[in-house]
Amino acid sequence: MTRDERRAALEQIANEVRGCTACRLHEGRTRAVPGEGDPDTEVVFVGEGPGFNEDREGRPFVGRAGALLVRLLGHIGWRREDVFITNVVKCRPPDNRDPQPDEIAACNGFLRRQLTVLDPAVVVTLGRYSMGTFMPGARIGQVHGTTAPADPETGARDALVFAMYHPAAALRTPEIERESFEDVARVPSVLVRARERRQGITASPASAPEPASRAPDARTDVRPAAPADHLSASADPVSAPADPAAGDAAQLTLF
Ligand code: URA
Repeated sequence: MTRDERRAALEQIANEVRGCTACRLHEGRTRAVPGEGDPDTEVVFVGEGPGFNEDREGRPFVGRAGALLVRLLGHIGWRREDVFITNVVKCRPPDNRDPQPDEIAACNGFLRRQLTVLDPAVVVTLGRYSMGTFMPGARIGQVHGTTAPADPETGARDALVFAMYHPAAALRTPEIERESFEDVARVPSVLVRARERRQGITASPASAPEPASRAPDARTDVRPAAPADHLSASADPVSAPADPAAGDAAQLTLF
């Protein structure tokens, strides 16, 4: 798919989201929040659902949690427009309550289609409900900061999933905020690993168990080089020593 075809396909999904009446959440919405970002991105962030500000603006993560997400991205030299940001439910749950299983199920087709179009290398889950979609049965306290191969059924047909706490939890608890900055610092090296995995390159025998199933993605080959420090290994002090590929990150750019 070309960039224009991806953009058109995402807009088609967004239009369907805006007209959706498949679950009760549509009754209380001001605006649906389909998601937004670069159609050519390799990294998709998936939150839980819109809050008050998102419901008014029709855009994801524009409130306080969004401001923290932007700071987290800035910590690794990325901007929100470099990635794609969406949620497991696209309409605001009343009083910001947790999304219910039937609401997540009703909305899941939109997320799956978005991921099918974007074909990301990395899916970053924000919070328990997003994690539950990609790592069923996992506990956020145990898996935050770790990766797992995405189930192709999610739409992300050849991706690594990386779990993070929800930024709203980080706003409430300083320890979670600290851990969130540590976790996000690992994302660039996760992207490096995900690219290698997609290209069938095994950096070391230790990475062999993950099947390398797809040919190189043409998108990674045609993107213009960004400034060399855009995605640097130094942004990842936590996992760099343990990751033999991380040293390459200094030469790698996100887009
Ligand atoms: N919290 C979310 O999970 N998603 C948003 O878009 C905003 C806040």
